[in-house]
Amino acid sequence: MAPKKSNKQTDEVLTRIAIVSEDRCKPKKCRQECKKSCPVVKVGKLCVEVVPNSKIAWISEELCIGCGICVKKCPFEAIMIINLPKDLEGHTTHR
Ligand code: SF4
Ligand code: SF4
Repeated sequence: MAPKKSNKQTDEVLTRIAIVSEDRCKPKKCRQECKKSCPVVKVGKLCVEVVPNSKIAWISEELCIGCGICVKKCPFEAIMIINLPKDLEGHTTHR
């Protein structure tokens, strides 16, 4: 009866996304492995954008599925997966 999809009806749903370390990411020294290995990029969505002239790789919070492939592929260990709460309760605007 339980579906394989992880759509648990819990109060706190966490979503996994990849984040890039500003210090470690060196697009000029790598081959943009993150972008090349991302399965979401492979299906044609701009989940990771990086070119050799980028300061650091950019990863889309909305598109990233947190699969962790880019984490393994990056030669500088510049990417890590973090858990984010899915509801944006803590998302307040400060003036
Ligand atoms: S995250 Fe890693 S593979 Fe991607 S651009 Fe930065 S250094 Fe290169
Ligand atoms: S974690 Fe997966 S989906 Fe997210 S940027 Fe890396 S390879 Fe792409």
